[in-house]
Amino acid sequence: MSGKSKNPGFATLCIHGKKHLDKHQGELPIRAISTPIFQSSTFAFENAEHGAAVFRGEDSSYVYTRLGNPTQAALETEMAYLENGEAALVLASGMAAITTAVLTCCQAGDHIVSSDTLYGGTHELFTKTLPRLGITTTEVPGDDPANFAHAITDQTKLIHLETPANPTLVLTDIAAVAEIAHKKGILVMVDNTFCTPYLQNPLDLGADIVMHSATKYIGGHGDTVAGVLVGKADWMMKARMETLRDVGGCISPFNAWLLLRGLKTLPVRMDRHMENAMEVAQFLSYHPKVSQVIYPGLKTHQQYELALRQQRGFGGMISFMVEGGREAGRIVMDNVQLCTLAVSLGDVDTLIEHPATMTHSTYSEEELLKVGIDPGMVRLSVGLENVEDIIEDLRQALKLV
Ligand SMILES: *Cc1c(COP(=O)(O)O)cnc(C)c1O
Repeated sequence: MSGKSKNPGFATLCIHGKKHLDKHQGELPIRAISTPIFQSSTFAFENAEHGAAVFRGEDSSYVYTRLGNPTQAALETEMAYLENGEAALVLASGMAAITTAVLTCCQAGDHIVSSDTLYGGTHELFTKTLPRLGITTTEVPGDDPANFAHAITDQTKLIHLETPANPTLVLTDIAAVAEIAHKKGILVMVDNTFCTPYLQNPLDLGADIVMHSATKYIGGHGDTVAGVLVGKADWMMKARMETLRDVGGCISPFNAWLLLRGLKTLPVRMDRHMENAMEVAQFLSYHPKVSQVIYPGLKTHQQYELALRQQRGFGGMISFMVEGGREAGRIVMDNVQLCTLAVSLGDVDTLIEHPATMTHSTYSEEELLKVGIDPGMVRLSVGLENVEDIIEDLRQALKLV
């Protein structure tokens, strides 16, 4: 499978998109090939009347970097374009993006339905922090759209999906859930962190909001924490001018620039992440000490057909179980030499971690079992090293089990 094609193609857009789309760059006396970093907190008005007009909403000049900045705007234009959305908002982190989206959609008394396998921070937000504000969430297994239909109440305002889910790689049929939600006027948000716009465009499948932890594949180099929302222009204006203005999770111009740089190589990196992941998944699935490998590109994945239909590739994330459970998994994680024992994902480096005690330690023991996060599960974010080196490293670590 190859990435999406558009006219011009996806890779061309990642590199040149902003040239066509970002009006600010053309206004500069020097046309820099790289978007300038507007490292400015505030922007001067021409006169008092200009300032007043901006505050009345009659003039869209930049005011203050929490509300908008030309470097952020270049990234927003590009992300909206790559996700086939009307508008985007970039934020300080993936969690700032989710929080901003939820607070734009929901108020006290409202209800969310979400898939039950989520990034640990999202699960904590939905089950601990939001209930303190009177917003409750029902989490349901993501593999059957009917589960979402059954959990909807008169108070439901938002359905949140993570597909593929972190770390179980369970998929949710976005189009089927969107159809259920829209009959009741409910918005659907999809966390597209694992696929990126290169492999999946939730808006094209009927979702209303796409959310990214841009910390991962979009930044791609393990040097930035950031988040993105893409959706309808009027909704995004509300998210920016009400929620972001008051909650304040804005991104720094420098971090926005790092993401613009990351985007230029996104398709090339994703292709290699996938190629490497497929080889590593096959190696693991034949290894006698590995009891289970979860990768959407393996025919043994329960939703392989849905992955083929909904995604343009299978991504770079693998979860696996070592024969001997948790202790065996620990031996592997403690003995890898090339792979790095660290949370996060989507970096050029191969990262290995233990969901039950690290990224998903916000789940109780019972919750872990219920959503299918085996205490022995090891999560691998396959990087861009030579794949034979990654495999050799795993082989020598597995030998010690
Ligand atoms: C990392 C991650 C988040 C949270 O993003 P941050 O940038 O760390 O705030 C949300 N969803 C998924 C799927 C993630 O992997």
